[in-house]
Order: sequence, then C-alpha cells, then structure tokens
Amino acid sequence: MIARKFLALGSILAALSTGLAAGAVRAQEVAPNDLLLATLWTQRSVEYRANALTVFALARLRLDEALADKSWTAAPGEQKGDFQNLPPAVILDVDETLIDNSLYQAWMLKNNQTFSTKTWNVFCAAQVSRAIPGAVEFSKYADSKGVKLFYITNRDASTEKDTRENMQKLGFPMGGNVDTFLMQNKQQGWGSAKSSRRAVVTKDYRVLLNVGDNFGDFDDRYRGSEADRAKAFDSDLAYWGKQWLMLPNPTYGSFDTATYGHDFKKPLAEQRKAKWDALETWVGPKQ
Ligand SMILES: [Mg+2]
Repeated sequence: MIARKFLALGSILAALSTGLAAGAVRAQEVAPNDLLLATLWTQRSVEYRANALTVFALARLRLDEALADKSWTAAPGEQKGDFQNLPPAVILDVDETLIDNSLYQAWMLKNNQTFSTKTWNVFCAAQVSRAIPGAVEFSKYADSKGVKLFYITNRDASTEKDTRENMQKLGFPMGGNVDTFLMQNKQQGWGSAKSSRRAVVTKDYRVLLNVGDNFGDFDDRYRGSEADRAKAFDSDLAYWGKQWLMLPNPTYGSFDTATYGHDFKKPLAEQRKAKWDALETWVGPKQ
C-alpha cells in the first residue's frame, strides 16, 4: 500500500517536472499581457473558426454573383475604363486573411516580446503559418472558376520565397505563369499602402472581390486618426459584405495603432494608456 502511494507520488512528481521542463509556468508567473485573450480566441476557439468559415462561405456566393455581373468591380479606386471583359481576379491579403500566424503571437506573449521585423522574418522563414479555416477551400473554388488569385501582402519582398513555399504546402493556388505575389517593397512605390499594387492588377483583370483583415487592405486612409478612419469607413459602406469581405483579427492592426497616432516609437505604457483612454465606458451602478 505504502509502496503504491510512493509510486503514485513519484509519477506525479515526474509529470510535474516534465511539465515544468517543457516551459510550464506557475499561475502567479503568468504576466498580464494584452495579447492573451485575442490570441486565445483566434488560435483556440470554435467561435473564431465559425467566423472565418462564415466569411469564406459568403465569399463563394459573392464570387458567383460577381462572375455573372460584368459591371461588378471590387477596386472602385483603381479599376478604370472598359473593364467589363477583362479576365476575372480576386485580391487577397495574406496574414490573418489566408494564413494564421498565432504561433508568432503566442511566442511574443510567452517571451515578453513585441513585434520586430527581425523576429518576424525568422518566423516567416520557419514556414509554420497555418491555413485560416475555409481559406484554402475558397481559393481552390475561385481558381476552379478561372479566377486569378493575387496576394497583396505587407510581408516584405525578402520573405517571398518562404511565403510562397508555406502557402504552396497549405494548398493555395500559385498563379501558374503569372506572378501573383505582390509583396511590399518588391517594386518601387509598393509601400504599405496597397492601392498602387491594386492598380497593377486592375490593368489586366476585373477584380471581383477584395478580402482582408485590416482596413488598410481596402482603403489607404487606414493610417488616419480613429475619427478619420470612421469617416473613410462610412464612405465605403456599400462595399462591405459585397465586394469587400473582412476576416476578424483582434490580435493586431491599424485599429490598435490608430489610438496612439500610429507612433510605434511611443513607449509601450503610453500606447496602452491611449487605448485605455479611447474606450467609452458605463458610469457604473448608482452608489
Ligand atoms: Mg493581414
């Protein structure tokens, strides 16, 4: 009996030490981190998966609608002239639209790191991004309908090879003899604002849909203040849910940086205060 108890205690201790060796921390060692809930939601929840599947299910319906309507374009600012008979294309953002980088988010929060181009590029080179639910299936469906898929991403041109290989392994269409990866800085004038790259696509294609996770994937006015972004959003209202489809991404984006004037050099505490101050709040129960 005693021997059995010791044995049980031994296996508990062994399990504990394995757990700790694998990077487990005690509850009091989990530091407060703004990324925790958003990362948990996107990486682990069925609710996120349901959101993504819903967007891509709608994308499929809208694609069919757009194919049948030659006057339809998802690039109102760039699509000029007689575009009705141009071959069809869709514009897709990559990160948090088609592929999920929550492993990088989780690495940042567990190692008390903030985003840096250096660690991000190492992450891209690892080619461990996963497919967003529904993204591969939608992409293959569009491809099967003869629609060209253009990836307009703010991943730097230096990451193109790894991004292509990562996405190819996941099953995304690669574009055949057309270069469909329009990375940031790949050509002069291709900065983080995406309109100049959309204009390249609209020269030869009719754009049926634009799919992204950030306002900047659709409108170059994303870098304004919260008030300016809201105004720009209202002027685009007719496109949402039709030519433009947005994946949810609470982990990062211009919604966050707008609160502190997109000033990445601002100390972290000041960035957090700006977000805190931006919130509208209930007065609370009567005393
Ligand atoms: Mg994105």
